[in-house]
Amino acid sequence: MRLTVVGSAGSLPGPESPASCYLLEADDARGRTWRIVLDLGSGAIGPLQRHCDPATVDAVVVSHGHPDHCADLASLSVLRRYGPHADSGLDPMPLYGPTGLDARIVQVAGAEDRKDVETFDFRAVGGGDAATVGPFTLDFATAWHPVPANAVRVTGPSASGGEATLVFTGDTDRCDEVLELARDCDVLLAEAGWAYSRVNPEGIHMNGTQAGTLARDANVGELVVTHVASWVDPASTLELAAVAYGAPVALATPGETHVL
Ligand SMILES: [Zn+2]
Ligand SMILES: [Zn+2]
Repeated sequence: MRLTVVGSAGSLPGPESPASCYLLEADDARGRTWRIVLDLGSGAIGPLQRHCDPATVDAVVVSHGHPDHCADLASLSVLRRYGPHADSGLDPMPLYGPTGLDARIVQVAGAEDRKDVETFDFRAVGGGDAATVGPFTLDFATAWHPVPANAVRVTGPSASGGEATLVFTGDTDRCDEVLELARDCDVLLAEAGWAYSRVNPEGIHMNGTQAGTLARDANVGELVVTHVASWVDPASTLELAAVAYGAPVALATPGETHVL
């Protein structure tokens, strides 16, 4: 299973990165490569095209309906409806997300009909739900954020044999549901949307210390920190996360691939 960071900037695109977007790939027993896009935030569909044909990935999983996680669903709809595959009769693409995400696509697309939604096979999911995409199994947990939001645990074939597990927090403050979802995973892709130096409102994001504490408490194998805003020094966030985790941590960096 391979995790490629497409966009990791928190809250809005930065000068070096689009907003939230990750590509997951794994080969099944027959050698067919399956692809899932985790989040499709603002600006992400541009560089995503370096790594795959976004119009034909096997599924999109969107954590929640904030623009930095879902805005480019409207662009993906345009690509599927009018791009090179327009005449080939693409099947609706499975799209997993919280209730209401389909309405959000219509709002972003600015269309009064639902054609931008109908290019997707939208499946509303929340805490406790599960799904299968090729060799991947998805398990969802409810996150703590101002809008309906999910964290997701992805289980798939490991590059070294057996299974590997990735947990992506989406946007969330510390909560028990995400802690339980993350327990003993191989890689925790955790948001640290807050800088530590301010008083952080509850129920929105974690800071570096909280992301590191989550990784330590969940006994994860590796911590990758993401969703650092462009106006925050990532080095300070990483240092706080590493101190709390008790081991070095990585910063999600566009273009980098993590092999699980
Ligand atoms: Zn966000
Ligand atoms: Zn958010």
